[in-house]
Amino acid sequence: MEVNQRRLRDDIEANAAFGAIDAETGRGRTVLAGTEPNREARNRFVDRCADAGLEVEIDAVGNVAATWLPESADPEAAPVAAGSHLDSVPEGGIFDGPLGTYGALEAIRTLQETDLEHSLERPITVVSFTEEEGTRFGGGMFGSSVATGRRSVDDALAATDDEGIAVEDALESIGYRGEGVLDASAWDSFLELHVEQDTRLEERGVLVGIVTTITGIAHATVEIEGEANHAGATGMDERTDALAAASEFVLELESAGREHAAAGEGTAVATVGKSRVRPNATNVVPGGVELGVDVRDVEYGTMESILEEATATLERLEAERGVETRFEREIDVEPAPMDRRCRDALERAGLEAGIDTLAMHSGAAHDAMRVSRVTDAGMLFAPSRDGLSHTPREWTDWADCAAATEVLAGALARLAGAEA
Ligand SMILES: [Zn+2]
Repeated sequence: MEVNQRRLRDDIEANAAFGAIDAETGRGRTVLAGTEPNREARNRFVDRCADAGLEVEIDAVGNVAATWLPESADPEAAPVAAGSHLDSVPEGGIFDGPLGTYGALEAIRTLQETDLEHSLERPITVVSFTEEEGTRFGGGMFGSSVATGRRSVDDALAATDDEGIAVEDALESIGYRGEGVLDASAWDSFLELHVEQDTRLEERGVLVGIVTTITGIAHATVEIEGEANHAGATGMDERTDALAAASEFVLELESAGREHAAAGEGTAVATVGKSRVRPNATNVVPGGVELGVDVRDVEYGTMESILEEATATLERLEAERGVETRFEREIDVEPAPMDRRCRDALERAGLEAGIDTLAMHSGAAHDAMRVSRVTDAGMLFAPSRDGLSHTPREWTDWADCAAATEVLAGALARLAGAEA
């Protein structure tokens, strides 16, 4: 089985032209859901799927599903699906998303060119989910949330961007407000190929990562209230400095993350990624700070412990510094273990292709996380140069894209019932 690297590269490069930005180094694109570049990217993807003889369907929230029915397959059998997303973050890279969508299409084209066409028992569906990144309409994993029944179509269509434009109108305007709802629970299984966005594969010189678990994510907002006052006239023992208290919190959360990472397998992370200081003036003792907290791990219990330690820190700061604090958990997603059968299919496909694979967790969320709640899901990673992603400097060598796609094709064949 040999993937056509040139064809895969041409697809990804053609897709990179939509929403392309001028970047000093690398190649970037801005493709937000429901925009003109998104329409162009979708149109081309749909055309390429049709070129490969796939039957294309667009659902009510713009998810694209294109199905190949091999000669030997039962049209009624639950399909094996694979895919990712075509949207990007602002000034994102050209591989995050497109590698998984076009890789899945290339895997199908590769299977079509082998004798496997006559031994596959299940249809194979390529999927492009709407707005995985969540940049325009918020939330992230938008399309897969609907396809997995986590979010209703009506609720999703009514979501608006910052300018008050609804998803429904945005999709309508680009011709991708389809019908029905893609039902991921009807799939036999789902595989997502994605760039790693980290350096573990590169460091070990391994071409393909097989994901064991996608980490859970908790987001919380912390508010610390002190007292704004004159920075010159207020003595050091007279102040209630919200930023000084917040700084202690940031450092304690960091050490909680470090300790749990060291005690476990190094997968726990804890970050304060956002802060807003009031009034944010050099000559005023800070009166209030709002912090955005992000905690992740493959073990939900560890996430819980870190968050409990964070609230204990806030209690201590109230007692010691006289500040008032609030802690509100906003996002709470449990870790998503990948299915054993999908992991096995990927491992064996790697062995068969003579491509080394490495088991690893995913620290970032992906559509496969949502899909894993309703059917068997697996993920594989291709190496990211220097671990960079969400930047025009994101890069994966074409040969590495092809190698990962070959493993994907082999795994899809297995899951679709090919005689191994
Ligand atoms: Zn992605």
